[in-house]
Amino acid sequence: MSNKHGSKWIRPAKRLAIYSRDGFACAYCGSEESLSLDHLQPRELGGSHAAENLVTSCVSCNSARKDLPMRDWFQVLRDGGGDTSQLRKKIRTLTARAINLDEGKRLLAARRAQ
Ligand SMILES: [Zn+2]
Repeated sequence: MSNKHGSKWIRPAKRLAIYSRDGFACAYCGSEESLSLDHLQPRELGGSHAAENLVTSCVSCNSARKDLPMRDWFQVLRDGGGDTSQLRKKIRTLTARAINLDEGKRLLAARRAQ
């Protein structure tokens, strides 16, 4: 079954590097609370754990999406008044950026030192 809500499938430094790439904000709603990662192409549909297939998502958006394919999730967002053409561009821009694993490791070390 889906393990997208667990945390063991991705290294902590890589997770933090993706959060950093995305500005520590949910790609869908901009929330900076309760961040998680969302697979653009769901695992159930063959999506990988590659950074290009992952965006920062708050737990609320992640739960709302469940395992919906992107097209259906965008429809849900449009039904809620969202501008998905802007969102599509934003996600394309975010995922086109290389993640900085050194930055992720630095962030991880800083968190562990707290
Ligand atoms: Zn959100």
